[in-house]
Amino acid sequence: MTVIIDGKARAAQLRADVAAGVSEFVAVRGRAPGLTVVLVGEDPASAVYVRSKGKATTEAGMVSGEHRLPATVSEAELLALVAALNADPAVDGILVQLPLPRHIDTDRVLATIDPAKDVDGFHPINAGRLATGLDALVPCTPSGCLMMIEEALGDITGKEALVIGRSNIVGKPMAALLLARSATVTIAHSRTRDLAAHVARAEILVAAVGVAHLVKGEWIRPGACVIDVGMNRVATGDGKSRLTGDVDYDGALGRAGWITPVPGGVGPMTIACLLANTLKAAKAR
Ligand code: NAD
Repeated sequence: MTVIIDGKARAAQLRADVAAGVSEFVAVRGRAPGLTVVLVGEDPASAVYVRSKGKATTEAGMVSGEHRLPATVSEAELLALVAALNADPAVDGILVQLPLPRHIDTDRVLATIDPAKDVDGFHPINAGRLATGLDALVPCTPSGCLMMIEEALGDITGKEALVIGRSNIVGKPMAALLLARSATVTIAHSRTRDLAAHVARAEILVAAVGVAHLVKGEWIRPGACVIDVGMNRVATGDGKSRLTGDVDYDGALGRAGWITPVPGGVGPMTIACLLANTLKAAKAR
């Protein structure tokens, strides 16, 4: 039997915990933590994310700020805004929504955010702190994945873990988190040979690729904990589309021990972890 991990319910619980933490913070400090999101351009998916982040921030009792800049904004103007937010004592967390327009150097922008306010955990200082085992602001998606993995499996010491994908946003920090918990970690990527053989060994499988149903159900090791980060839009034939993961969900059912659905698995946890990071950043300042 496969346990379907209810990311929505788990995220609701985490958001309630954060809201309780926010109340305590307000009682002690006399102000609410603040998260400011910067959106450049009109990308519809990014606009949806920014809206739902703002709503979740307010629901948790925090102050939500938003800056919308036109796609034509210069890099210098964006850097000046980030510098102003770094200096603003009411702002505890800064999130610059990616992707940025091509004329802007994303790495430079991310490196300009004060690491203490870097609630996305993308600043090289936070990436380095995570990699070296120091306390850090950790990227939200892998943080949420780790919570679900540990709640399913308990202690993961020595377990065979496979992370498919090596992005700075998901794959690499996911691997670092699993390694820090003493799992035996393999990272697969676009140049990996015989992905199926790696999947077959994995007791923990995190798929973060962006290719619909890349991982076949029959590849999965029986009993494995499968975390599907992929968010792929596929046409349904009737002029509509639906969201699906990197794992062949139907094929994995009955074989995996645990699996996250898409949607309703990793996605809701990501936003909840963003709120948790904002509270953590506020407390640390
Ligand atoms: P990315 O494009 O930066 O990285 C994809 C990775 O997959 C790369 O490292 C690449 O080497 C690897 N890859 C590509 N083809 C492969 C193949 N055939 N076999 C093995 N590896 C292969 O993407 P990302 O930002 O890491 O996101 C990955 C997926 O996760 C996307 O679908 C994205 O939408 C989704 N995502 C979801 C959330 C969430 O909250 N649910 C958050 C972030 C990303």
